[in-house]
Amino acid sequence: MSVSRNPASWLEVINTYNADLKSSYYEGSLLPKWRKDYAGSFLFCKEYMDKSLQIPPHMRRGFNELFVGTKYLDAGYDALLWCRRGECKTCFQKAGELLGDRAAEQFLTTEEGGRPPDLLVFDTPTGRFRFVECKGKESFTHRQVPKFTEIENYLNHISRARAELLTDSRDEKLFPALSPSQWIHIARVLPEKKIVVRPRKPDAWIPVAGPGQVVIGRLVLKREMLIDELKRFEAGEELPRPKMSWWISHVNEVRIFRSAPTNYFG
Ligand SMILES: [Zn+2]
Repeated sequence: MSVSRNPASWLEVINTYNADLKSSYYEGSLLPKWRKDYAGSFLFCKEYMDKSLQIPPHMRRGFNELFVGTKYLDAGYDALLWCRRGECKTCFQKAGELLGDRAAEQFLTTEEGGRPPDLLVFDTPTGRFRFVECKGKESFTHRQVPKFTEIENYLNHISRARAELLTDSRDEKLFPALSPSQWIHIARVLPEKKIVVRPRKPDAWIPVAGPGQVVIGRLVLKREMLIDELKRFEAGEELPRPKMSWWISHVNEVRIFRSAPTNYFG
């Protein structure tokens, strides 16, 4: 896990997913499973999902947000995703309830001035909440930074609703500790690094000496012939050129063999 500060100063937490999970979302098999597992949650709102053409099998939107959202559902919280007016009436009403109606009107009804953060994560019994912006590799759009700042300003100074920040110190990855007056953190959603397993090189061929043979370099040679040739080399006898260069590089090795007991090498 890593928590860092992006240039706009909101904390960033990295979430990694398995590439197969994303494929199954795109193929259309994951969403029905999620909808079944998390039936009744706001995140997988039936009213919205039954008619949305943005999500599989129609289009492929929503993986990052739903993937991050499921982590909060697993931890016992809920989240609103498509809760702008016109997206889903039920979710919009829930957002209004959490934020106070005026805030909901101001921030959630229109895309004017940029979209609010993707997820509004909340705790059902207490109504505490925080915003989580889900991002892949992309950076902030030019409208997001002023929009997010405006949202935090509103919640800190203007809202009369008694909004309380949702925190949970048991899980710093889901709830990084925010500075006072912050309501937003960023969930970075990235694929798990693939571990590349390289095929093992086949074992190099190891020459083995048979009876009466020795191995010098990678060659299997007859011991007697070799000792004889060593004598000729040491006597300064002219050998054919390729033999000469072989002897120059291997003479010491052969001398070691000569001094070793014969039976040691077979
Ligand atoms: Zn809804």
